Amino acid sequence: MSLELTGLAGGYGQAAVVHPTDLTVRAGEVTALVGRNGAGKTTLLRTVFGLADRHGGQVVLGGRTLPPGRPDLTARAGGTLMPEDRGVFPSLTVAENLRLARRRDFTPAVDPYAVLPLLTDRAGQLAGSLSGGQKQQLGIARAMLAGSALIAVDELTQGLQPSVVADVLEALGTIAASGVAVLLVDQHAGALLDRSHHAVAVEAGRVVLDAPTGPGLRDRLDAILAVR
Ligand code: ATP
Repeated sequence: MSLELTGLAGGYGQAAVVHPTDLTVRAGEVTALVGRNGAGKTTLLRTVFGLADRHGGQVVLGGRTLPPGRPDLTARAGGTLMPEDRGVFPSLTVAENLRLARRRDFTPAVDPYAVLPLLTDRAGQLAGSLSGGQKQQLGIARAMLAGSALIAVDELTQGLQPSVVADVLEALGTIAASGVAVLLVDQHAGALLDRSHHAVAVEAGRVVLDAPTGPGLRDRLDAILAVR
């Protein structure tokens, strides 16, 4: 269930932010999408999910062609976009958040309770009182229980301590290995690169690098991300 973008362009009204982009986010892999502040990462995500205006191109998820401006159909096709607030219900407990997310007649390939110990430790705690990293983990668990084929996380590392980032990345790696396409968006390549199979860099709304992670890639990315 990969995500395939062909010539995808988008923005807000007449304003073009994302220029025609070809990109594949493969099932079973973690893909890191990086770029400086304002490069168009969030707009690209929002265009994929039908939340920004699509100016052209195709979005295919798991073989299904998704029409523009229909976030509901993207969700039904198995796409989850985790917003910066992590999309949890703050006035419900962790256990209640999970119960609401669970799709009937569906068992995730990876048990979220096994990869995210927080879910058991904090079951009775209100989600609104969790730390940013804990909310992140709850959001990921909700996506798993909903049967997501694609989990996209915007600003993954924002506000998280490095140790929490490492835990979250490890959990996402396990989830990807079960066949989910994981797309992580961040301003910094940092910790993401070690846990990603593929890296994509965006500059001024265009993909300027799309390569498997490996030796030498960090230097190329650092050069792209350096503030000039
Ligand atoms: P950041 O890391 O700061 O979130 P980003 O790479 O995600 O940056 P975007 O948020 O996609 O970048 O912004 C890309 C460009 O689109 C910026 O020039 C921004 O001013 C513009 N933009 C963002 N949101 C809107 C909007 N709602 N209407 C018009 N232009 C917008």
